Amino acid sequence: MNIVIFGPPGAGKGTQSSLIVKKFKLYQLSTGELLRQEIKNKTNLGDQISSIMNTGNLVSDQIVGDLIEKYISNKIYKSRLIFDGYPRNLAQAKNLGDLLKKYDQKIDIVLKLSVNLETIKKRILERKVLEKRSDDNEEIAIKRFETYENNIRPVIDFYKQSKLLKVVNGEATISEISNEISGLIESIKG
Ligand code: ADP
Repeated sequence: MNIVIFGPPGAGKGTQSSLIVKKFKLYQLSTGELLRQEIKNKTNLGDQISSIMNTGNLVSDQIVGDLIEKYISNKIYKSRLIFDGYPRNLAQAKNLGDLLKKYDQKIDIVLKLSVNLETIKKRILERKVLEKRSDDNEEIAIKRFETYENNIRPVIDFYKQSKLLKVVNGEATISEISNEISGLIESIKG
């Protein structure tokens, strides 16, 4: 099965994705991680995207689309992917559907983690201390939250229409959220 997980920055997508990966033997595809890796490795792509990422804006759909196609087209990951941080806008949601179709796959469930802005600010500042991400300061965190809010609404409507969307309360504890998500996945596995 393929899973999409989304929520605002700091919602805990990464944490929950790694738990699901272990439990259901999937592969986590985090576009944020892939992009940070390009910057770390000082690739041409990394040079192009670092300033965009550090302002809290989205990297171009083309760049991120090309990155994910590498995984979708790879037989090792066929129908075993959890998309963390993709899609982030309607164009990406449509692109994901097209790409999966091209490689004879589909999305089985879309999980939306809901968290309010106050919680997010708190979590991002805590994460900054631990991980030292260059886009984790309060100002950029708010900008990332706004970028998310401005782009995600049509994505939510898109997945509501296809009946794939499940909303999960991201304010609960890590294990409560993880139990809820596991239950939802089990229920679609049948
Ligand atoms: P967060 O969700 O906490 O903001 P991510 O690691 O998912 O963190 O993303 C960090 C940054 O990477 C984003 O602010 C954006 O610049 C870029 N990025 C990640 N995924 C995408 C995407 N699907 N499309 C465009 N840009 C992306």
